[in-house]
Amino acid sequence: MANTSGSTLQETLKLKLDYEQLTNCMRCGFCLPACPTFKETGVEAESPRGRISLMKAAVDGIMEPGIRFEDQMNHCLGCRACEPACPADVKYGQLIEQARDAIETHTVQHRWWIRGVRKLVFKQVFPHQNRMRWLGTGLSLYKKTGLQAVVRKTGAVGLFSSQLSSLEKILPEGSGKGIVELMGTRIPAKGEKIATVGMFRGCLMDVMFTETNMKTVHLLTEAGFEVVIPETQNCCGALHAHSGESDQAKQLAKNNIRAFKDAGVDYIVSNAGGCGAILVEYDHLLHAEPEWKEDSVWFAKRVKDISTILVERGRPLQLVDTQQQGAPTRVTYQDSCHLKNVMKGSNPSRQLLQSVEHIDYIEMQDAGSCCGSAGTYNVTQPEMANQILEHKMENTNATGAQYVVTSNPGCLLQMKLGIDKHGQKDQMQAVHIVDFLYDRVVKSVDK
Ligand code: SF4
Ligand code: SF4
Repeated sequence: MANTSGSTLQETLKLKLDYEQLTNCMRCGFCLPACPTFKETGVEAESPRGRISLMKAAVDGIMEPGIRFEDQMNHCLGCRACEPACPADVKYGQLIEQARDAIETHTVQHRWWIRGVRKLVFKQVFPHQNRMRWLGTGLSLYKKTGLQAVVRKTGAVGLFSSQLSSLEKILPEGSGKGIVELMGTRIPAKGEKIATVGMFRGCLMDVMFTETNMKTVHLLTEAGFEVVIPETQNCCGALHAHSGESDQAKQLAKNNIRAFKDAGVDYIVSNAGGCGAILVEYDHLLHAEPEWKEDSVWFAKRVKDISTILVERGRPLQLVDTQQQGAPTRVTYQDSCHLKNVMKGSNPSRQLLQSVEHIDYIEMQDAGSCCGSAGTYNVTQPEMANQILEHKMENTNATGAQYVVTSNPGCLLQMKLGIDKHGQKDQMQAVHIVDFLYDRVVKSVDK
């Protein structure tokens, strides 16, 4: 398959893939039981080892990479559950991004509307926060003017895809105002200041989960942090990097590094596992540009998930579930793959939940396994995403929990979708950990 510049996909793969990482794989198969797509299919080509073998075979010229090759790469969730399981420390996340980057320059297989949406979303919307606010305004109007009711009645979204129709049902409230417009750029700590944190507001978080962002600031100030929100920050670039748009991802990373460096913060806090995982790897993303080495390392070292910074550095919060009468509220936690596998930060979330008085915390079986959201995966690969979600819901239902808490907006929406599909909205809610904790904070207490 050739692109306009005349090079083949095989040649581009040779150029982009890290051959040393490919050869580091010793084919032991320890990663197989951790891989959701292998667990669903039992097919070697749908496993990390299988995908690495395919990449190597393509680079070595043993196999011509065609549509099947692209499919196997695109079926990967990018959840990176294979990395902690790997005794050889193979950087699978980097390999799959390099493979997708190569494929993206050659791909012809997306349906026309997917190509159109990708271009619009990646290049014209996500990098521009003012346009994201228009999106937030549009979403808010869609819900408030009755347009949503008309769309649902006519089934218009279902004409494009039944998956989009399902996702439409769990759309969050939109907001035309982001956190800076609502709270300003510098919010003082309550009591004695422990440190200054820069808040990463997130492009989608800021217009679709604006209240969660505001509650993040309140939790941080209550725990003793001054919060700075640099206005010039932009989208983290995660969706771009995972979808083969690496040049755009690098540009977004550089803008963010400049914004937070200029703000002179001690930490950079994210409340979305998907964003945090790329922020913490900006040094790797820019590793081929020596002039960015010092600043990208400065940035990556400071990134913390909200739960991690609250547990590690904040004044302890007194958390009580005052709303619940009678038996304690049963709560479970669904890991964000990127928070768990890349940021290594799932334990603080559990610690915080378990510290809430009058709560019955129950661990879900396979809580660390992907829910099928994975960025745009549940839109581009609906069949596999739904299959994975079904298994996730079996485990969620078995807990009997009233709340499924998550640390990432994509997981939150996916769990809402699962609850909606299972007709359980009256018994179970999916909530972001920040919203859950904020509603239960009494006050901070001195250490
Ligand atoms: S990133 Fe996730 S889906 Fe992809 S190969 Fe690794 S474990 Fe499997
Ligand atoms: S665990 Fe690591 S070395 Fe073993 S097959 Fe998987 S990727 Fe290769």
